[in-house]
Amino acid sequence: MKNKKLALHWQILLGMLAGIFFALLVSQFSWGADLVKDWVKPFGNIFINSLKLIAVPLILASLIKGVSDLGDITKLSQMGTRTVFTFIITTFVAVSIGLVLVNVIKPGNSISENTRTNLLNSYASDVQSRIEIAQDQRETGPLQALEDIVPSNIIFAAGDNTKMLQVIFFAVIFGIGLILIPAETAKPVKDFFNGFNEVILKIIDLIMMAAPYGVFALLASLIVESPSADLFSALALYAITVITGLILMLAFYASIVWISAGKTPKFFYNAIAPAQLLAFSTSSSAATLPVTMDCVENNLKVPKEVASFILPIGATINMDGTSLYQAVAAVFIAQAFGINLDLGAQLMIIVTATLASIGSAAVPGAGMVMLVIVLAQAGIPEAGLALIFAVDRPLDMCRTVVNVSGDAAVSVMIAKYVNKKENVNLNAT
Ligand code: ASP
Repeated sequence: MKNKKLALHWQILLGMLAGIFFALLVSQFSWGADLVKDWVKPFGNIFINSLKLIAVPLILASLIKGVSDLGDITKLSQMGTRTVFTFIITTFVAVSIGLVLVNVIKPGNSISENTRTNLLNSYASDVQSRIEIAQDQRETGPLQALEDIVPSNIIFAAGDNTKMLQVIFFAVIFGIGLILIPAETAKPVKDFFNGFNEVILKIIDLIMMAAPYGVFALLASLIVESPSADLFSALALYAITVITGLILMLAFYASIVWISAGKTPKFFYNAIAPAQLLAFSTSSSAATLPVTMDCVENNLKVPKEVASFILPIGATINMDGTSLYQAVAAVFIAQAFGINLDLGAQLMIIVTATLASIGSAAVPGAGMVMLVIVLAQAGIPEAGLALIFAVDRPLDMCRTVVNVSGDAAVSVMIAKYVNKKENVNLNAT
C-alpha cells in the first residue's frame, strides 16, 4: 500500500509546534536553555544558511533565464514599470492602514510611566547598536540608494547577502545582453542557465525536505531565548495593533488576487502556505525566496519569466508588513512619550516608512534598524526603540509573512496583466 504523505505545509506546521512544545518542556529544567543552545540551535542555523546559500545562485539563474525568455526589451520595461508601481501602491496602502489603526487604538497611551522607565532601562544598550547601524546608512546623499544598485564588482556583490539588488541588476543586464546578441550565439549560454536553474530548483527540493526539522530547531531556540512574559503583556495592545494591520493586509491581498485573477482566497493561501510558514520561522524574506518562487510558479501557476523577475525584486524592495509596522511603531513611541504628531508629521511618516521599507534588507530585524530613520525624521526620540524591543522578534516573524505574501499577490496580478496583453497581441496578429 502506498503511504500518503502529509503536505509540506502541514509538516512544517507540525515542526513549529513540536519546537515550541519542546522548548517549553525543557525550559522547566535548569539545563534546558543550554541544551537547546548547544544541541538544537545549530541545526536551525544550518537550515537558514542552506536557504541563504541558494539565494544568490537562484536569483542569477532564474532572473537571467526569465529576462532572456521574455525575448524583447519593451516587454521587460513594461513589466518592470508596472511591478514597481504596484509595489509602491501596496506599500502605501500598508502604511495608511497602520496609521489609521494606531491613531484609533492609541496603544501608546496605555503604557504607564513605570513600564516605560523599565523598558527604556532594560533595552538601552541594544538600542544603541541599532542607532549606530542606522547612522552609517543615514550619512549618505539622497542618490546613494541609486548608486548602491550598481555593483563595481559582481563577485563581491554576490558574496554579500545584503547586496541582493546589485545581483539583480547584474542578472537583468546580463539577460538583456542575451536578448540583444544573435540567437545562435545566445543559445549555449541560455542552455547553460536553463540547466543551472534546474539544478538549483532540485537543491531547493532537497533543502525543503529538511524544513520541518529546521523550523523545529529555529522555534525551539527562539522560545528559550525570548524575554519574560510580563514585558510582552505590557506591549500587548501595541502588538495587537500591528497584528490587526497585518491581517488586514492579508485580506487586502486575497481580494486583489480574487478580483484580478479570479483565484479564491482559500486557493491563494493554500498555495503559498509553505512560504508563509517558512517566512514566519526564519524572519527573512531573502531566506524564504527559493520557496516563494517554488509556490508561486508551481502552485499559483504564474509563468516562470514573470515570477523569476518579480519575486527577487519584491523580496528586496516590497515590504508591506515592514512599512506598516514602522508606521505603527513610530506613532506608538510618540504616544508613549506624550508627543503629539500632527497630520503633516503623520503624512511625512507615510513617505519615510515607504522609503525605509524599500531600503530594509530582507533579513531578521532589518525593519527595526530602518525604523530609527523614520523616528529621527519625525522628531521622535530614538531611545524609544527600547519600548518595542521585547516584542520585536515575534512581530518580525509576522511582518515577514506579509512581506512574502505581498510579493506573491503582486506576481499573480502582473501575470494576469502580461497574459491579457499577450492574448490581445495574439488576437491582433
Ligand atoms: N525580516 C523582514 C524581512 O525579511 C524585514 C524586517 O521587517 O525586519 O522581510
